[in-house]
Amino acid sequence: MEQPAIDAGIYIHIPFCERKCGYCDFYSETELQRIPDFLTALKKEMQLSTVSDLKSVTLYIGGGTPSLLTPKQMGKIVDWAALCFNLGASSEMTFEINPATASKRDLQDYAAFGFNRINIGIQSFNDQHLAFLGRKHNAKQALAAVEAAKEAGFNNIGIDLMYGLPEQTPNSWKKDLMQAIRLGPKHLSCYLLTYEPQTPLHQDLQAGRIAPLSDVLAADLFRMTHDFLGAAGFEHYEISNFSRGKRWRSVHNQKYWNFVPYIGLGPDAHSFRLPERWWNHRSLDLYLSDLEKGVKPISEEEVLNEEQQMIEALYLGLRQSDGIDFEAFQMKFHMDFKLFFHTALDRFGAENWIDMDDRRCRLTVEGMLFLDHIVDELVEQIN
Ligand code: SF4
Repeated sequence: MEQPAIDAGIYIHIPFCERKCGYCDFYSETELQRIPDFLTALKKEMQLSTVSDLKSVTLYIGGGTPSLLTPKQMGKIVDWAALCFNLGASSEMTFEINPATASKRDLQDYAAFGFNRINIGIQSFNDQHLAFLGRKHNAKQALAAVEAAKEAGFNNIGIDLMYGLPEQTPNSWKKDLMQAIRLGPKHLSCYLLTYEPQTPLHQDLQAGRIAPLSDVLAADLFRMTHDFLGAAGFEHYEISNFSRGKRWRSVHNQKYWNFVPYIGLGPDAHSFRLPERWWNHRSLDLYLSDLEKGVKPISEEEVLNEEQQMIEALYLGLRQSDGIDFEAFQMKFHMDFKLFFHTALDRFGAENWIDMDDRRCRLTVEGMLFLDHIVDELVEQIN
């Protein structure tokens, strides 16, 4: 019998940056002369990972800094992806740019390859904050990058911002949000600064050179973001993501949160197809040498058991404004969500952390502040 085509996302990690930002723990190298070798290996990896029965494919090119690639290099990647993964003309195709490395001319070329969505890593419109984060661009370049994207014909523009910086005030964060809104993006991602181990910012924190923003103030900024963007017409559809209505949600990123299979290509890229998850070497050297030998550059893989799948479903479902659908949960885990978790749910309801109707359980904005704690409590009831 013929197998039905499956929905999937393709993520390609471009592991190069001109220099490392102080807070970032994404895998990237600064030896840009290795880009051609990486592309040769990436083509092989795609060929080894070819799946022909995919449908509704989305392509997301992230990193690293994808806009370091020349349009010709980017065009080749799109051609290979179209051949190997059934990428269609209607597919959502996103690429990330860093404002320091984006010219209008290049963006026009990217648009011609079929990219219809662009995500710009701005982080802040405040030059002092950008310097603190170690970003290579300044506020003027950030504004210019958005204008260049518009002039190149992109309508679906997303902007990444970061809050929770030391000494950040509600007023300075509000200025960033207002500036972003004025530019008319369809999508905003607002990430709380975290101090990831092994990063320069984490070392500064450990050494007492910087004092983090208090949890109370960070929570206030989160609430403010929800209220401010809500009033401006943005839907808070995932804990860190806002769109100008359902139509402009990131189709690709929603796949990560909804158990849709995705194939990650490039160093440190992660892949998932229930019940398995696997990820590539976090090393360009190992990635290249495996592919030179003609083997997939997989570092590790794991098979999620039923309990792990349920924990994942709780965590991913509750991050989204759509929440957990009781019927879908019952179908998947043969369990009545409301009945099984009723003790914890009663408590969460009394705290105003959840909002439930006959079909779904969602977190309120207050509840989103306690996502990890809420999931931990639910998990305790499973065990
Ligand atoms: S934040 Fe972006 S530009 Fe900065 S080092 Fe990380 S991947 Fe590179």
